[in-house]
Amino acid sequence: MPLKIGLLGIGKIARDQHIPSLRADQRFELAACASRNATVDGVPSYPDLESMLAAVPGLQAVSICTPPQAHFDAALVSLRAGKHVMLEKPPAATTRQIALLAEEATRRGCTLFQTWHSRFAAGVDAAREFLRTRQLVSGKIIWKEDVHHWHPGQRWIWEPGGFGVFDPGINALSVLTEILPSEVCVESALLEFPENQQAPIAATLSMRTESGVQIGAEFDFRQKGEQSWDIEVTTTSGKLKLAGGGAELSIDGKGVTKDASMAGEYPRLYSRFATLCETGRSEVDWRPFQLVADAFLIGERRIVGPHEI
Ligand code: NAP
Repeated sequence: MPLKIGLLGIGKIARDQHIPSLRADQRFELAACASRNATVDGVPSYPDLESMLAAVPGLQAVSICTPPQAHFDAALVSLRAGKHVMLEKPPAATTRQIALLAEEATRRGCTLFQTWHSRFAAGVDAAREFLRTRQLVSGKIIWKEDVHHWHPGQRWIWEPGGFGVFDPGINALSVLTEILPSEVCVESALLEFPENQQAPIAATLSMRTESGVQIGAEFDFRQKGEQSWDIEVTTTSGKLKLAGGGAELSIDGKGVTKDASMAGEYPRLYSRFATLCETGRSEVDWRPFQLVADAFLIGERRIVGPHEI
């Protein structure tokens, strides 16, 4: 029997990725949706989570696609109602919230899948395997995109807890922490805040692995023209480049995998969620979020010109 799942927060990512992935996966039945201002054709739709849970008691899981500021309350209500939960990235507004959600899932015997969709990009597994036995020399993340194109009209991204440029930047950090054979810490950061917004529009991070290898990161929301979602890692025996947000892997300039779209990421995410629910396990890894939180903690702040949404 397919797992009856409800979707919360019908916005861009729910429509672009979650709904098509759920409809294509026989292990799920999209049984209900909850959103204040949106409905989904052919699916019973409710204005909020509580009314969805009350109206569809047979729901077994909830997938949460709202902005991060709304994740904690929604996930807590769902877990306390005995539902398995899949959580979009960034997982919450504060680090403590993720810890509490993980504890609640364990207490309730429910699955909590705290997702990082970029880890499911086509080149990531092969990148991790390549680096597993290699000696690192340096690393660099360049993650630059046009916020007006990718986040049109999204006010929440500029509000407290909205992450600003770290909304995409945390994807890069989720891939970095997945592929590196050692842990990293933030050493210093420079955060650029528009004078009229509450979240950074650009950030530069200097990180270091446990063995002292430097990893730099440049995140920028003001990129026009060619967009960059690239990670490069130099080792003593080869240089790896993951481009296209993790989709395209090349080693020493030679292509290894190429899947220029996000097409496979969300089907793979839901496949993992189904397996986690079936086997009664959770998956929670807040290291990418800790790196972002640490950048906010120790980062130097620079106020820049206004940004109009
Ligand atoms: P979005 O287009 O703004 O959609 C989110 C929806 O959540 C809204 O349409 C809104 O629907 C609902 N919502 C509930 N509480 C809200 C609140 N406090 N503020 C604003 N909206 C609220 O955002 P999105 O791009 O889909 O992103 C949602 C999450 O997915 C984020 O965590 C983001 O990082 C992640 N994500 C986005 C993308 C992408 O390409 N856009 C890719 C991967 C992951 P109602 O008004 O109908 O309730």
